[in-house]
Amino acid sequence: MSSTVGQVIKCKAAVAWEAGKPLVIEEVEVAPPQKMEVRLKILFTSLCHTDVYFWEAKAQNSVFPRIFGHEAAGIVESVGEGVTELAPGDHVLPVFTGECKECAHCKSEESNMCSLLRINTDRGVMIHDGQTRFSINGKPVYHFVGTSTFSEYTVVHVGCLAKINPLAPLDKVCILSCGISTGLGATLNVAKPTKGSSVAVFGLGAVGLGAAEGARLAGASRIIGVDLNSSRFEEAKKFGVTEFVNPKDYKKPVQEVIAELTGGGVDRSVECTGNTNAMISAFECVHDGWGVAVLVGVPHKDAEFKTHPMNFLNERTLKGTFFGNYKPRSDLPSVVEMYMNKELELEKFITHEVPFSEINKAFELMLKGEGLRCIIRMEG
Ligand code: NAD
Ligand code: ZN
Repeated sequence: MSSTVGQVIKCKAAVAWEAGKPLVIEEVEVAPPQKMEVRLKILFTSLCHTDVYFWEAKAQNSVFPRIFGHEAAGIVESVGEGVTELAPGDHVLPVFTGECKECAHCKSEESNMCSLLRINTDRGVMIHDGQTRFSINGKPVYHFVGTSTFSEYTVVHVGCLAKINPLAPLDKVCILSCGISTGLGATLNVAKPTKGSSVAVFGLGAVGLGAAEGARLAGASRIIGVDLNSSRFEEAKKFGVTEFVNPKDYKKPVQEVIAELTGGGVDRSVECTGNTNAMISAFECVHDGWGVAVLVGVPHKDAEFKTHPMNFLNERTLKGTFFGNYKPRSDLPSVVEMYMNKELELEKFITHEVPFSEINKAFELMLKGEGLRCIIRMEG
């Protein structure tokens, strides 16, 4: 048994003291895991837009000081009371939403919106006792979505950890703990395109390219990528995207452009931008009679969605998904296996890598819209 069990661990964490200000690497104290909690050593983490939105705290509310980070991979260091499914040494992916396995959602085959552990971006504490497990000189530092992976050690509820194949390379599969699985699942589990069908993907960031990867795996014959930033198009070719539309190049709404390109609309569309106009276009560009649109992007807190009700009556379906409808504990291990079996390609999503000490570079890259995923290596 490791000598740190039951002890406070002092380690490095990247602390966000204030909205929009560079993170500061600090020495933090990480308390031992309490009931149904697990303390893990993070080996690799990556930056996702959701971290940036809550760090900027422009369009979303946030609490500070806070340790961000939710896309990561790590190894269990110790477990708290009542944890039987995981043991020190297990390889895990932390997830921003959980699966208690007992609530109505967890018991339903259709839902992954666990009542107990569903994402809560306002909460900065652990649910067991309403306290933080992080502190600096005794002063609390808040958690983010129950994961806070920008720390060498973190404490996570057992229900937010997927135990994965120990042979899986953690520097690759860490990106499955949020963005890529979200896009992939949005297509495979929710949009469900059939072989030979057409799929439009709005937003060619990592999530949208995850959705495109899903369309490729499902055997879609046309994958239309839509983005306001044409520099995304070259990269997207590697993801099987066959055609590109930049809404800025046209005077008419992009839904009309897509309807013309496809003889009435695409069979499926997946929106991965967070922009309301793109959400409306994604819905209105699907074919009447059978088209299904899936919303993935997280909108501005005051956003509203507007469309004519006839669009529904004409037998178009609008759905939304959260984490690609994957149940974190039950389903994520099999997504890792899809990578291990060489069906799913992950390397092409990883465009940058930095050591933990340079974590702010990952923020700069994302703010500039450069690259897809930047892996942050915790050990030098
Ligand atoms: P990203 O910023 O890397 O990619 C978004 C892309 O959308 C950019 O290339 C941008 O140019 C493009 N875009 C913006 N507005 C557009 C418009 N009106 N029309 C066409 N293209 C437009 O972001 P990402 O990391 O890929 O994440 C995408 C979205 O998914 C974000 O909103 C993120 O918060 C969300 N997300 C949702 C879930 C979920 O469970 N639902 C999980 C993770 C991420
Ligand atoms: Zn549950």
